[in-house]
Order: sequence, then structure tokens, then C-alpha cells
Amino acid sequence: MRSRVETSLRVVARETLGALRRLVPAERGSLRIVYYHRIDDERHRSCVAPTAFAEQMRLLRTEGYRVLPLSAVREHLSARRPFPERSVAITFDDGFADNHRNALPVLAREGHPATLFLATGYVGTDELPVIRDRRGLRPLDWSQVEEMSRGGVEMGAHTISHPELPGLPDDALRREIVGSKEEIEHRLGRPVSSFCYPRGRFDARVERAVADAGFAIACTTLPGAVSPGDAPFRLRRTFVARDDGPRDFLHKLAGTWDALHAARQRWGGARTPAPAC
Ligand SMILES: [Zn+2]
Repeated sequence: MRSRVETSLRVVARETLGALRRLVPAERGSLRIVYYHRIDDERHRSCVAPTAFAEQMRLLRTEGYRVLPLSAVREHLSARRPFPERSVAITFDDGFADNHRNALPVLAREGHPATLFLATGYVGTDELPVIRDRRGLRPLDWSQVEEMSRGGVEMGAHTISHPELPGLPDDALRREIVGSKEEIEHRLGRPVSSFCYPRGRFDARVERAVADAGFAIACTTLPGAVSPGDAPFRLRRTFVARDDGPRDFLHKLAGTWDALHAARQRWGGARTPAPAC
């Protein structure tokens, strides 16, 4: 449990950053891509409670955010066309079964499009790409993936076995990237145009391999918003954590924490601040 001192410091930091943020208008015409992993009741940083998730999706509607499908993003980037004000895109990484149980009904109720990045080698198995040896945790199976796809959730590729891509030789790199795309396309009968780097790890060679495979965009774990004209294979995203209350969520959408998250990533090396991606 978080200590009172830590909670107080967090509140002071949030209010200070929020006040500073109001002095600098949010970058106009940008897009905020939020990312989740699990939606369930387990107390884990990357597992958002279903009630909190429902509240966040409701806030997007009541606060006037425009939720865009990722498939609409590339066109804006290529044409350097500003995104509509308060644009947001919703993404999920890895493909946990709780996304079908706890996120799909909420997305359907609110009418929000979303994208789910699948590590295809785990779909329908008893193994998980990131978290191991956890009882009761399962990846999605293909019938659940199909149901989510029919329900308006775009499927993106997240490799086959969720490796750290920069360390792979060329042939394995290509197999992981192209193989996941082809498997989803074969199963769903529709094109897959978005990719997400496992654990946020990529370099110029990986980026090129993703572009060569025919993807239109790729998501990273670099914090911040996406501006028109940004590189399509380096899309920034904002991590939503279990501890985030409604105000934290709105602050994250407004970019209040971006500089802090960027600094934390720099201090921690190139790795993502999220425990699982
Ligand atoms: Zn992942």
C-alpha cells in the first residue's frame, strides 16, 4: 500500500505540474494514445480495475474527447493534418482474456473504438507473453478475438513470441513481425495495419523491418502525444496504471505527466516504465 508521505508528494507534484501545464497550452492538433494491459481486479500496477476502466471510458465521453481508431492515424501523419481537438486512441497490449470479459462490454456500451495488439503465439494457449505462473490468468482464444473484432476492436500485431526485437537476427526478426500479421489476417480475413514493439524495444533496423512488412504505423512506449507529421513507426503512448484515479487519468490525457515520464525513462535507460508491454 502506498505510504501517506508518498501519496502527499504525488498530490503536490500533480497539482504543481498541473498548474505549470495550464500556463502552456496543450499542443494543438495532437493525439493522445492511451495503453492498457489487463482489465481485472488483481492488485498489479498494469492491471486496471474494471470499475476504474468503466469510469475512464465514461470520462472520455462526458469530457468531450473524440476517440479515434488507430486506422485513421496514418492519414493524419502523412498529410500533416492536425487531429481533431481532444483526440484520443485506446490500445491494449498482449491479448489477455480479461480484455474480452471486462473491456469489450464497456467499449461497446460507450461506442469507443480500440486496438488490441496480439502476441499471436500465445492466443488460445495456457501461457502468457509477459506474466508467468499466475493461476487463473489466460490469454484470449481465437473465438474471443473474433468476437472482439466483430465488436469494433481493431487487431494489431505484437509479434508471435513477444521477444525483444533489437536482439534478433534478420530472419527471426522478419518471422516474428510478418508471422503475427499474417496469422491475424488469416484468422480474421481483414488486413492488419498496426504494430506494437514488445516491451517498447526497437531500433532503426526493427523500425525498417516493420515498415517493410507493410504496416502503416507502430506504437512505442515513449511517453507523450502524437503530433501531425510525427514518424509513423514511433508513435508515443501514455500508460494507464492501476493507481490512476479519475483526476490522474484526465491529467495524463492533458499531458501533465509527460515530462516526468520522459525523464524517468531516460534515467532508467531505454526501457519502458511499464512492468509489462
Ligand atoms: Zn507486450
